[in-house]
Amino acid sequence: MVTSSTYDGPTRRVTVLGATGSIGRSTEDVLAHAPSGQFAVEAVAGGRDAAALARVAIHLGARFAAVADPSAYRALKDALGSAPIEAAAGPEAIVEAAKRPADIVVAAIAGAAGVEPTHAAAMAGRVVALANKECLVCAGEPFMRDAAAHGARLLPVDSEHNAIFQALGGRDVASIAKMYLTASGGPFRTWTREAINAAMPEQALAHPNWSMGAKITVDSAGLMNKGLELIEASYLFGVEADRLDVLVHPQSIVHGLVSFCDGSMIAGLSNPDMRTHIAHCLGFPDRVATRATPLDLAAIGSLTFERPDLQRFPALKLAMDALRQGGSLPTVLNAANEIVVEAYLARRIAFADIARLVQAACEDAIRRGEAGAPASIAEALAVDHITRERTRASLA
Ligand code: NAD
Ligand code: MG
Repeated sequence: MVTSSTYDGPTRRVTVLGATGSIGRSTEDVLAHAPSGQFAVEAVAGGRDAAALARVAIHLGARFAAVADPSAYRALKDALGSAPIEAAAGPEAIVEAAKRPADIVVAAIAGAAGVEPTHAAAMAGRVVALANKECLVCAGEPFMRDAAAHGARLLPVDSEHNAIFQALGGRDVASIAKMYLTASGGPFRTWTREAINAAMPEQALAHPNWSMGAKITVDSAGLMNKGLELIEASYLFGVEADRLDVLVHPQSIVHGLVSFCDGSMIAGLSNPDMRTHIAHCLGFPDRVATRATPLDLAAIGSLTFERPDLQRFPALKLAMDALRQGGSLPTVLNAANEIVVEAYLARRIAFADIARLVQAACEDAIRRGEAGAPASIAEALAVDHITRERTRASLA
């Protein structure tokens, strides 16, 4: 690893799931620039890109590299060359990476593909730096229950939840009046409903403040991402829908706020740079220096806040409704959304169809009498699977 200074404390062993993605690369940057000896990398895992995975494995000195696509095994072996890194491929290799001995597992696989490996890390009682919000949206109750039963600790990487976690400072949720997640409002914040409905993928992908993977960027443009994050927050912090709210904050400096019963409010601020939140989790409870630009509030000048417009951003309303109704609806919403966002990025449907088709999937589940709560991860994944199939069929 490229490092700046040395470190005297115990070395923390880290595994990075989704190491080649946007969060994965930010994690790589934090690890590579942390003081020498503070972290050592046990395993890295990625989806398909064997060359990118081999590069990060070599850069971080990982012991084990796992690629999900079984046909990428040869390419991974070749790209690792003579480096002393064990290679493996296939979905079970990703789970193996998640279970290997480590002090902390960064869960940054995109989408529902991250649920099983992240769950495996939780079942092994690891500290999990959770970026993959789909774990909690798809399988919130069983995931939290299994994590607690196996002594796993979840540290939120998602910026809003990370800010709230820091603002909470371990205080009892009973003292909270409200938690606020901020949303930048995305590229369509000031657009008319008609313009949003007709937006092309390159417009949805032009996020003003954050650089992220394609799926979450489209989710952010329609505020579905904020809806998924409300569901994530509800399970993560054990707070019901009535005490969760969204504030549109175009500067993306304040990420989350907690209002307490005495009228105090504590907010978490930083520049929009995931390295800050990742470093907070990796070092917790200590702080790790990063290359993120320090926040200069005088240079920013003003921070503004507004209420979200649920008319122009119906996806947020759908997610809020799914959170209130509970049961399988968050699972259905998340699965249908992944399929329709994929179709949108492939230019098969319009932006307006995203919320319309997700709503249809939720209504379909209710109509079929399938809106009951999944009792286990397996049940949640079964609901996820059938919803994907039905949503794909509805697109054909
Ligand atoms: P990304 O698409 O950039 O990266 C996804 C990673 O997952 C890649 O390494 C990819 O190879 C890997 N992957 C995909 N399928 C896999 C599979 N079946 N098995 C193993 N690995 C697989 O996504 P991202 O933007 O880094 O987001 C990752 C997660 O973090 C998402 O759940 C997202 O919602 C969440 N998140 C991201 C950000 C951000 O700033 N990017 C912020 C908050 C939360
Ligand atoms: Mg977020």
